[in-house]
Amino acid sequence: MENENIARISVFLGLLVLFSILEYLIPRRVMPGSKPKRAVTNLSLVVIDSIAVKILLPMTAGLFAVWVAEKDMALLGFQTPVLLAIIILDLIIYWQHRIFHVVPLFWRLHKVHHSDNAIDTSTALRFHPVEIVLSMLVKFAAIILFGIPVLAIVIFEILLNAMALFNHSNIKIPFDNILRLFIVTPDMHRVHHSVIVGETNSNYGFNVPWWDRIFGSYVAQPKHGHQDMKIGLSQYEGGETSLVKLLLMPFKRADSLSLKNR
Ligand SMILES: [Zn+2]
Repeated sequence: MENENIARISVFLGLLVLFSILEYLIPRRVMPGSKPKRAVTNLSLVVIDSIAVKILLPMTAGLFAVWVAEKDMALLGFQTPVLLAIIILDLIIYWQHRIFHVVPLFWRLHKVHHSDNAIDTSTALRFHPVEIVLSMLVKFAAIILFGIPVLAIVIFEILLNAMALFNHSNIKIPFDNILRLFIVTPDMHRVHHSVIVGETNSNYGFNVPWWDRIFGSYVAQPKHGHQDMKIGLSQYEGGETSLVKLLLMPFKRADSLSLKNR
């Protein structure tokens, strides 16, 4: 499990640096709203999230999967094969994301991610710690329900981190139309960060684009085009970059409006 952590952190840092360099060299869109403070705040959040998970949860999802397997506790009665387990996890994450947009209590947490008024690879790090802890609990539930093997958890966590960094990045990607048949591309995920509510409530997938197509939440392109589309939430038009305000955002009374009623 030590090796798993080292692998995950190495892939994460390596891709963060690589995508940041590519964003500088071959940017997809000019980002007038992007300021260094955004990136610092987003980076600070991922550090706080990791600490919160360590403090609040007794073990990592990987260790939990080992424990469930050792005690033979999977409710299904057997372990799901690795590839199928990864697909199940991805489908669960899709629906979790969709539910976080619809249920007002969860939207309070998830809007921290959407309150970024620009989108680049650092946006992938911008989540409220409570949302991250809840996501981990969802994974724990999946592990015990479906007997998800530890290898599937390890691969899925690395894949999810890598794909989130990729599909939030502001990099010009060739052959987007072909690529997005198999994976979620930056152009596809950018639609999800539009201020237009119908676009915010679309393209929930992180890894594969199929769930959006199957469950009717796929929107191919932003109405105003990638360069002119507005990113973020109309509630936070200037974007929110204060770390303290982001941490307190879910608990603010005035901000309790759900995405639907906005
Ligand atoms: Zn979202």
